[in-house]
Amino acid sequence: MKTSLLSAFVLASISLVAAADLPYGTVVTECSVPNTIAISFNDGPSTWTSGLIDSLNAANVKATFFFVGTLNNNCLYDKADVVKKAYESGHQVAAHTWTHRDLTTIGAEAIFSETVRMEIALKKILGIRPKWIRPPNGAYNNNTLAILKALNYKVATWNLDSQDWNGASIASSEAKFTALGSDPRVITLAHDALQATAQQLGPWIAQWAKERGLRAVTLSECLGETVPGGQYDIVGGASPIDSTWKC
Ligand SMILES: [Zn+2]
Repeated sequence: MKTSLLSAFVLASISLVAAADLPYGTVVTECSVPNTIAISFNDGPSTWTSGLIDSLNAANVKATFFFVGTLNNNCLYDKADVVKKAYESGHQVAAHTWTHRDLTTIGAEAIFSETVRMEIALKKILGIRPKWIRPPNGAYNNNTLAILKALNYKVATWNLDSQDWNGASIASSEAKFTALGSDPRVITLAHDALQATAQQLGPWIAQWAKERGLRAVTLSECLGETVPGGQYDIVGGASPIDSTWKC
């Protein structure tokens, strides 16, 4: 009994030491944990995000969703059930700003508005504040970064662009993956706002990762962060829907 208690203590200590949450202001472009891949999607939730989550869940892989507040006539509040489904399925929920503005061309006040509106919505819908953000178009400068750091954000871009946003065919996006060497530690860029990505490319990437023997995990897990501590501040439970749930 004593021995097993001691072993449990030692194991717990090791896992505490091994996991280190990255500080605010960090910028990452690739995974650091061997043999992992962070499949990530931007610009949702869209009409097709729920189906994509079903595909990911069926493949038993985790992904990261950089959600926006309002884009392409979608509103985060109207798709709160999809946001909840992503979160409750164990996918990481991260910010991609409220209205998808270029953060290098707006001032501190506007950047604050772009992030805080998303925080208010995710607090209502999930009871969390995301610690990770992906600036629209991956655009940031020293000024952007200083503001995001002050607002308690870590920044994730990518090192594998599927080019789905640029009209690339599914085949040419897939070729970018099949060309990768062993243990590529990629953070991917693709968009669940695009039907073909949600229905074909996303599920294909999940399957490809499994066949390559890579662990498709959340962004934080591929960086060796604690889960959910590296991902979120827990800011109280979800709220009931009311008249403030609108974009
Ligand atoms: Zn975007």
